[in-house]
Amino acid sequence: LADKLAHHERLASIGRFAAGVAHEIGNPVTGIACLAQNLKLESDDEPVLETGKQILDQTKRISRIVQSLVRFAHAGRQEHSGQHEPMSLHECIAEALHLVSLDSRGTSPRYSNEVPVGLEVMGDAQQLLQIFVNLLNNACDATPDQGLISVSAEREDEKVIIRILDEGTGIPPELQDRLFEPFFTTKDPGKGTGLGLPLVYNIIEEHYGNIEIISPANKKQNKGTLVVITLPGTPVSQP
Ligand code: ADP
Repeated sequence: LADKLAHHERLASIGRFAAGVAHEIGNPVTGIACLAQNLKLESDDEPVLETGKQILDQTKRISRIVQSLVRFAHAGRQEHSGQHEPMSLHECIAEALHLVSLDSRGTSPRYSNEVPVGLEVMGDAQQLLQIFVNLLNNACDATPDQGLISVSAEREDEKVIIRILDEGTGIPPELQDRLFEPFFTTKDPGKGTGLGLPLVYNIIEEHYGNIEIISPANKKQNKGTLVVITLPGTPVSQP
């Protein structure tokens, strides 16, 4: 418990720090993007246009990082507790899969939503959407073209168990203790911020849930990752 509290406090203080940093960086970056845009509009000189484009690309990259800092800080605030209502897990996963498939991240895996249509969980729809987008983005980044990413779920007593299974690279044992560490990433600087899983962890904690990452999920082939999440199901109506 002490470990969990220390971890929670650490995440909360990193969240406050992240909010401050994001705020301070956000405005000047918007300013730089506007200036680069003007440069592009006002010039017909090829090298100037190319430089303007590169400045815009780089500012977009910073904006993406700032946005994930803001999301992380928002979920990390202890006073923040979303509205927990019954919601359709199938629809939430369908929307997350749709968003992930729109975001071309280099590979084109196959997706399968095997969550039963009537299954509901208790949660904040926006926050749960965020965790599934993050987890599916990770699965997508690790999985080769045509590899399968499947999401399934079942009710077990008062809980709902959700499984996200990919056919990706898997996670080396020596990295597994670091997955929920803020800013831990193995991705290229433009692609990863290392805030995805800490954010997922925060949101699941707020939902009184649990997360476990098992990798390799396919021991024989030494690949694939299985993420198992537990969330509260809707209360069973008393007879
Ligand atoms: P980011 O995606 O920005 O790197 P995350 O916190 O979401 O940050 O993930 C941290 C690291 O965990 C990733 O960089 C990757 O090395 C590893 N990881 C997470 N999910 C998977 C997965 N499904 N398959 C392989 N590696 C993964």
